[in-house]
Amino acid sequence: MSLTTYLRGLGQLFFPALCLSCRRAVGGHDQLLCVACEAEFPPRTDLSLPENEVTDRLAGRLPLTFGGAAYTFRDGTVCQRLIHALKYHHRPDVGHALGHRFGHRLADVPALADLTALVPVPIHRRRRHERGYNQAEAIARGLSEALGVPVRQHALRRVDFRGSQTRRGKLERLDNVRHSFKRSREAVAGGHVLLIDDVLTTGATLDFCGQVLLEARPDLRVSVATLALAER
Ligand SMILES: [Zn+2]
Repeated sequence: MSLTTYLRGLGQLFFPALCLSCRRAVGGHDQLLCVACEAEFPPRTDLSLPENEVTDRLAGRLPLTFGGAAYTFRDGTVCQRLIHALKYHHRPDVGHALGHRFGHRLADVPALADLTALVPVPIHRRRRHERGYNQAEAIARGLSEALGVPVRQHALRRVDFRGSQTRRGKLERLDNVRHSFKRSREAVAGGHVLLIDDVLTTGATLDFCGQVLLEARPDLRVSVATLALAER
């Protein structure tokens, strides 16, 4: 247990639980939002559709068995404040709780009935050290509880990669991201993998992660699930 987690646990004994969005008091520390904010945090309704905004964004790149996002991410929304708490305010429990909720919805998706592993998108160990945890792994842990599918947090890792220093355009940066994902020795052995991330924007990260796994196991089936989809 990290010091931050310990101190927060201690603080919870003496301070009332607050809604993570509007800071009003809520009933208990396991309640992330007040009733009013919960109502402003609707789940996406296109989750179980074979084609939705997630599959559209990855179309023509990563071949997907399933793609879906639980919520829509927009600036100034409840969703944004929850993701912010998860990533910047030492609240891995937010990822775990929302992952657990998400998992109960994904359990009803027939395309995911044969999942063999959950693989969180890795962060660099330097960032993990700063943050204390990988937020995608926290989400995956919650999903795992609801789905009964194991988390393979070491299947992928993120390394430093600097390509040519002379070309610094957008494509160059994207190429650096592509080469920063590596398979680990404990790679997944076939089956059907669900890649997990916090927010889907362009889809480049998930695309690269999926490609790295497929290079080793072309027979692997890949699905993606993100807590939120950034609206464009
Ligand atoms: Zn609230």
